Amino acid sequence: MASEAAASSISSFPRRLAMESNALLWFRKGLRIHDNPALDYARRESNNLFPVFVIDPRYLHPDSSAFSLGSTRAGINRIRFLLECLSDLDSSLRRLGSRLLVLRGDSDPASAICRIVKEWKIRKLCFEYDTEPYGQELDRKVKDFASKHGIEVFCPVSHTLFNPADVIGKNGGKPPLTYQSFIALAGKPEGPLEVTYSELPPVGNVGESELLTVPTIEELGYKEMIEEEFPPFRGGESEALRRLKEVLKDKEWIANFEKPKGDPSAFLKPATTVLSPYLKFGCLSSRYFYQRLHNVYQIVGKHTSPPVSLLGQLLWREFFYTVAFGTPNFDQMIGNKICKQVPWREDEALLVAWREGRTGYPWIDAIMIQLKKWGWMHHLARHSVACFLTRGDLFIHWEKGRDVFERLLLDSDWAINNGNWLWLSSSAFFNQYYRIYSPISFGKKYDPDGKYIRHFIPVLKDIPNEYVYEPWTAPLSVQRKANCIIGKDYPRPVVSHDTASKECKKKMGEVYAKDRSMKSCKKESSKSATLRKRKK
Ligand code: FAD
Repeated sequence: MASEAAASSISSFPRRLAMESNALLWFRKGLRIHDNPALDYARRESNNLFPVFVIDPRYLHPDSSAFSLGSTRAGINRIRFLLECLSDLDSSLRRLGSRLLVLRGDSDPASAICRIVKEWKIRKLCFEYDTEPYGQELDRKVKDFASKHGIEVFCPVSHTLFNPADVIGKNGGKPPLTYQSFIALAGKPEGPLEVTYSELPPVGNVGESELLTVPTIEELGYKEMIEEEFPPFRGGESEALRRLKEVLKDKEWIANFEKPKGDPSAFLKPATTVLSPYLKFGCLSSRYFYQRLHNVYQIVGKHTSPPVSLLGQLLWREFFYTVAFGTPNFDQMIGNKICKQVPWREDEALLVAWREGRTGYPWIDAIMIQLKKWGWMHHLARHSVACFLTRGDLFIHWEKGRDVFERLLLDSDWAINNGNWLWLSSSAFFNQYYRIYSPISFGKKYDPDGKYIRHFIPVLKDIPNEYVYEPWTAPLSVQRKANCIIGKDYPRPVVSHDTASKECKKKMGEVYAKDRSMKSCKKESSKSATLRKRKK
């Protein structure tokens, strides 16, 4: 691990335990050494420590039926990013006298863990708590197995600043549904573990197991890497800490950070930290990040505040984790109590045009191409395309857009992605459905010359500035000169924004009106029920 994670103490593994004690440290997220309570516990409580990562076929095995190169659940860029995270973790462990043991998952990682726990005579099983439904399902299997076999489990909450269950508990068992109510309940988070290690317990005897070192992308079965532009972000804890260090250098920038003010078209030097992929895989601890920001605030004195400040962004993350954890069916419209029921339309052709960056609106298409090539876009760019797909123009179900983001984002995160799609489609949290992003003027405000568009859509590179956001309005002579004939080299708009957005507003208006009348009916009937009770 890079040495940036400042230490208040340096520890080698402290003592030889009286009895032989094997601990298994199961890495899933939390791919880091710093502020890792599961690692810290495992190394204190064992003579032999087995750090394990299991290859989950759903996330890593090639699936040729998926719409982009990658596995069933993840696009190739995120798979590559994860492998970089694992290599970096392995290097850090090796520097401490250990190594990462990579196992092939059978049907799922939990079965591989149960199998290996028996084989290696593990007495203590340590892994980070996971609030996602899939993680919870795996945890249940592993915990049931451990309890049947008398194996101790240590499962701390360390992916988030707070334990979502605690916040929900403080709110009478219900998740807080606004950011402000969340802040009022959450309080101050605990600080990170301030310890670095000089040595870890050795890896014990692993016998005949099918152990792999961290595989390369080719070894996973991805032969043809067709992408010509790779994301400029490398995975791993070392890179996360280096990136954070760079961010922390500019105290004035941190002090003045105001989220809605950033430039979504800035791509050479993004307007925000791009730490999300590192938080997603737990290469960067959110507690460590929070504490470092807090230190900067103490030095500078005057600074912005939540919800717009940089520290406030971390609290948005917590907010969505908490609501997602406490809301059944959070990731769908049906059966989700906080989600408006909208009659979204089915239109595969429009969905594919949006997904592939072929809507004919260069601002929208450039963002979707950045997603495909880089796996990261600025928050307001995400706003633009999510609004366009759903309540703004195409009126397509937010779950369809969520699926595309879930697959292609490097920072793809179950709670945050679903939460933001619910927000952007005005299905929950945000009800000003009539405030629609223009696919033309919104981007132009930040980047009138269309540098961002020209980078991600090279066929538009010679279109003059005045047409770059609306190339279909360029005279044919201009199109010829720019070597870009609209309808042949670049698509015509799939819908007219003026007409489509009016139609969307009308439909959303109807949904909101129906919702209001249902709520008032419910109120009335509960009032009458109370009156009836009183009379009795
Ligand atoms: P910064 O502005 O530097 O913020 C620092 C950190 O705060 C981020 O890394 C992130 O962890 C957190 N954060 C910032 N904004 C939000 C937010 N709105 N909600 C929750 N946490 C936030 N973010 C993801 O991490 N994963 C996703 O899958 C994801 N899907 C999204 C889908 C849509 C439709 C939208 C509109 C936003 C989505 N976001 C998602 C939120 C946000 O866009 C990204 O977190 C942010 O752009 C990441 O860039 P950054 O690290 O430079 O952010």
